Amino acid sequence: MLTAYHPQSSKQVFAAEQSSSNGPFFCPACGSELRIRKGLKRIHHFAHLPEKNCLYKGESQLHLRIKKQIYYSLLQELGTNVKDISLEKMIDTIRPDVLIEGFKKNIGIEIQVTPLTPAELIRRTTAYYERKIHVLWVLPFSATRFFAEDDGEFQPIRLKAFELMLYYMNYKTLFFWDDTEKLSESFIRVELGDVWQKPSAYYSIDWSTVIEFNAKKLKQKKMPIEIEYNLGLKNFKPVYAPPFPMPKSDYFLPKRFIMLKK
Ligand SMILES: [Zn+2]
Repeated sequence: MLTAYHPQSSKQVFAAEQSSSNGPFFCPACGSELRIRKGLKRIHHFAHLPEKNCLYKGESQLHLRIKKQIYYSLLQELGTNVKDISLEKMIDTIRPDVLIEGFKKNIGIEIQVTPLTPAELIRRTTAYYERKIHVLWVLPFSATRFFAEDDGEFQPIRLKAFELMLYYMNYKTLFFWDDTEKLSESFIRVELGDVWQKPSAYYSIDWSTVIEFNAKKLKQKKMPIEIEYNLGLKNFKPVYAPPFPMPKSDYFLPKRFIMLKK
């Protein structure tokens, strides 16, 4: 985590502005004491002790880097036009990486670097909905995932289970952030479509009959249709999405407040 609770000042403090001698520091989610981690190459952060178990333990350097970049990018974009922009604020059972208060609505940004179970995605989506917070899920962008190595054209990508659920929750779009900041210095929107396996036909083993296979829609593979870079939060609108059953699955997508492109 980039921040921790500092009882001496009764405040949330940033790892980048603290040293271990100013401690102790505590996790606002589980209450355990945290160690400060600083280094030349690493993002300055607070870490749980190995034996502690916490939902917010062990965020990767990639996760911390994206969180830091999004936070400073939003500070720059929105500045004093919103009530508050905060990092890692605990709201009962949820803790958005970045929370923007008073931008039309309250908006929570959830960066998801490691896979999440579909059940946990549904739990958090509902928890945000009940607190009237619009949630924007952000995944790490990787050019090699979207572009073919040989010709640089779009290629089909295989979505993880929770990404497939997000894809349906967001009306067939996903949002990303490029931590290298080479392709985009703000949010990236990817619109995706179905991938079909071509129809085929084979002779049976004794050559007597032709066996045909119809064209088949692949479940977890999707093809990028359009990628838009450098979207600021100003390019998004808060949307209420009604519940519906997720296609070809047993899941039911709950009522939700999401952010979509205007
Ligand atoms: Zn904790």
